[in-house]
Amino acid sequence: MTDADLTADLISARRWTDQDVAAARLPMIDVPLVSVGGGLGSFALVDTLRVAGIPSNAIRVLTTLDRPDQTYEYLASASQIPRHERIRSDSGSTIDNIWGFPSYALREAWNAKSIKEKMDPLLQVFLEPVFADYYTPRSGQVYESVVRESARINWNSMLVKGVVRMVRARHGGGYFSVLTPPRGWRPPPGQPPSKRIVFRSSHVHLAVGYPGVKFLDDLQAYRQAHDDFHRVVNAYEPHEYVYEELLRRPSTVLVRGSGIVATRILVRLLEDRERKGAQTTVLHLFRHYIDKPQGDDPKFRRLGRNGFAYQGFNYPKAAWGGQLKERLERLDGPGRAALIRQMGGTNTPFRREWEALLQRGRQGGWYQQWIGEVASVDPGPNGTITTTIVDPQQRSVQLAANFIIDATGLESDISEHRLLADLLSHGGASRSAFGRLEMEPSFEVAGTRNDPGRMYASGSATLGGYYAGVDSFLGLQYAALRIADDLASIGFGERIGVSRSVKEWFRWMRNAPIPG
Ligand SMILES: Cc1cc2nc3c(=O)[nH]c(=O)nc-3n(C[C@H](O)[C@H](O)[C@H](O)COP(=O)(O)OP(=O)(O)OC[C@H]3O[C@@H](n4cnc5c(N)ncnc54)[C@H](O)[C@@H]3O)c2cc1C
Repeated sequence: MTDADLTADLISARRWTDQDVAAARLPMIDVPLVSVGGGLGSFALVDTLRVAGIPSNAIRVLTTLDRPDQTYEYLASASQIPRHERIRSDSGSTIDNIWGFPSYALREAWNAKSIKEKMDPLLQVFLEPVFADYYTPRSGQVYESVVRESARINWNSMLVKGVVRMVRARHGGGYFSVLTPPRGWRPPPGQPPSKRIVFRSSHVHLAVGYPGVKFLDDLQAYRQAHDDFHRVVNAYEPHEYVYEELLRRPSTVLVRGSGIVATRILVRLLEDRERKGAQTTVLHLFRHYIDKPQGDDPKFRRLGRNGFAYQGFNYPKAAWGGQLKERLERLDGPGRAALIRQMGGTNTPFRREWEALLQRGRQGGWYQQWIGEVASVDPGPNGTITTTIVDPQQRSVQLAANFIIDATGLESDISEHRLLADLLSHGGASRSAFGRLEMEPSFEVAGTRNDPGRMYASGSATLGGYYAGVDSFLGLQYAALRIADDLASIGFGERIGVSRSVKEWFRWMRNAPIPG
């Protein structure tokens, strides 16, 4: 049996003809639109298109996932948001419902058993953010809502399992997406045997999430040099065994980072100490210590103290649908990148409960803050790891810990993603001043148009475009609406008008499947 595959000529060509694909004996499937990724970004677009009336047989989702919330749940659980914990975004960020109503708080109240449980979320939404912290839903509620909506839009019928290796423009318009299916896959009857399948589509949507987990260079070097992947961990890797070991013996943990993930790790460590009797000392290392409000403009500043920059959500609310959104849309190049950095960056929400926990830890001496640049990370005595820092007074300080948790970041460079790297070198895509994909306001990937086909993207790879909160439920839904409108303008489906919107909302409320 011959094994058809990509030839060197095909790999180096920017555009392929139908004959090229046939000559390479690659099985080909036609479909109007493919969405690559199959996570929440794909889900948001497919949900919107289904609400707009596009039938499920016009869409294929190319993915390795069984459920759209699967990668999200994996990363959330590792970074200390199990199903019963509350996420960061608010009540109206309903990823399963493009109308934002009924909100998560309303649904939680509706499903609650006691009067108190019914009143709590409603009161919190009423009093937030001044008299109460922002209401945020439990992650489990979000997952259940996504599963319900997936069934309603017939999500599973659109899935094709595999990894997309490249997307190339097609002579004559549209794109070829090359998918490597899982082991054991057999081509449809009449198609040549092959390790890959090509999807020929007019339109492509890329929602591939984070290119990879980013590690601090010094910790990565330590892990590799000493083959120690056990005691030096990334917050986004499963590391439950660390907390289990901490319950067994008094230990010291060094935490690096000051965003929401670092906060959640600190909260877990300190709660285990207070509630489960762990004898853990937490050393929290800051590179940039924030001790005053950030920003000179009284109308554009955020709370800063105790090392942290505080902000309810990763961007100010006005960045999702207010004056900051409009301001960003008018900016280009470095100006746009600068405003995004000013609005975002490393920050964490202010939650009264968390503040009190850290305060008790500070007073008791088991939560210690350190500031400095790391000079080296080396094995220390008795199974510890020694981190040598240079503090602000230029003194060398050694911090010994049994475990180090790196909570500094998740997003590595887009070129570390094979498909995005290929798109930059062969697909006409370029980098924005922010370093990620240069985007059009319609969420089309700039430079990739192949009339009448269009290539779109949403999610973290598009940060730096004309919308700041791209990597959020609301941002994914906003991108989906812009893409659906753009597609409608070129004849793929129709814009969601008032009567369709009302009709579909009632259908959603009845949990009735969308036909087609
Ligand atoms: C811990 C955490 C908490 C968050 N909390 C919130 C929150 O509270 N509120 C909020 O609004 N947002 C939140 N976000 C941000 C955002 O909503 C999620 O990251 C969301 O999952 C992004 O969706 P996505 O589709 O871009 O990526 P994902 O959901 O990660 O899906 C992308 C998928 O594409 C797959 N893929 C990649 N390359 C290929 C390829 N070549 N072929 C096939 N498949 C591929 C990946 O395996 C991945 O499964 C959070 C993010 C994290 C990490």
